[in-house]
Amino acid sequence: MATTEKMSKTTTPTHWDADIPVNYVYTYGLAGEAFFRAIKDRGTFLGTRCDACDITYVPPKAYCDRCLEALDKYIDVGTVGYVDTFTVSFKNMDGSEKPRPRILAMIKIEGTDGGIIHYLDGISIEEVALGLPVQAIFKPKAQRKGGIEDIIGFGPVKR
Ligand SMILES: [Zn+2]
Repeated sequence: MATTEKMSKTTTPTHWDADIPVNYVYTYGLAGEAFFRAIKDRGTFLGTRCDACDITYVPPKAYCDRCLEALDKYIDVGTVGYVDTFTVSFKNMDGSEKPRPRILAMIKIEGTDGGIIHYLDGISIEEVALGLPVQAIFKPKAQRKGGIEDIIGFGPVKR
């Protein structure tokens, strides 16, 4: 159906096949830039804290969600957390089977109110559990680019 044709039956779903060019520049913002710079340069996570609300945000936020106070003090929150929730993926986006299942988890960062969603690495389906301690695994420093892909995943804690 072309866009100039009049629809005769409004209850029948329709669509148009087309390509829409989308050009954009994504910026991390102040807090996101600090977060990814810390990953790239130091292999750690940053958060911001609102003392008035007793909340530590990870990833950091420039403003408190509750009281809207500007948050400009970044704190190193380390790389250790625990599995807050997880799911197991058996298929790729195109529907094909993965060579091995992958576990995607919400990792709550220790001592904070926030967390990061990422893959578990080196932890089997039989081992994964809610509350399981995990630690971020980063690419070697020379390979980091300042993005989420600098994190390989979360694996067993090495203390
Ligand atoms: Zn606050």
